[in-house]
Amino acid sequence: MKKGEIIAWACFAQILPGMILKTYLIMSSNFTVNRICEQCGRVFSARTTVTRFCSKVCNSKNGKMRARNIKMAPMDQVVKKVLNERVTEVNAVEFLNVKNAAQLLRASEKMIYQMINTGKLNAVNLSKRKTLVYRKDIDRLFELPQVIEIKEIIQPPVSECYNMGEAQQIFNISEKALFDIIKRNKLFKFQEGKFTYVAKSELNKIFNPEL
Ligand SMILES: [Zn+2]
Repeated sequence: MKKGEIIAWACFAQILPGMILKTYLIMSSNFTVNRICEQCGRVFSARTTVTRFCSKVCNSKNGKMRARNIKMAPMDQVVKKVLNERVTEVNAVEFLNVKNAAQLLRASEKMIYQMINTGKLNAVNLSKRKTLVYRKDIDRLFELPQVIEIKEIIQPPVSECYNMGEAQQIFNISEKALFDIIKRNKLFKFQEGKFTYVAKSELNKIFNPEL
């Protein structure tokens, strides 16, 4: 090694620990951890694991919100209490006036009157202006079995019917297709003599729905 080289190495060796230390310091101050801002929900790089907000703006916003919540807490409690009392009041009484019944069912008073008038809901008229509904009857509305509508079928006269052969010709379909349509649409068919009939009006409705 030449003399100059030795000096160069010696100098380098002297500043080396400093360089390493410097690098370390920069790294540590740049060390970040991904966190979610508690105010805006954005992911941000935090310098410490306990940083809660992405920015000063979010920090102060959160502080203001907390202050508001503390201030409003008693008010919210009162509102909650009143609402709860009202619900339990309506739930507890045995008879409801129409207004309360409407509130309970989230319906209009008009609808309640309609239900009373059509016999869907029992009611007592204490006076012309005071109609009471038994609470249990409202509960019972939800227990009633579904009403199945039964259509009364009246056999139409043959003159108002197509027999199967006629229907196939008129609507230009196969026997199988015709029977499928009758089955799928639950059309009433009946036998008379050696023919099976279906009402013209029913088939016309299916083949020419715009008529
Ligand atoms: Zn934020």
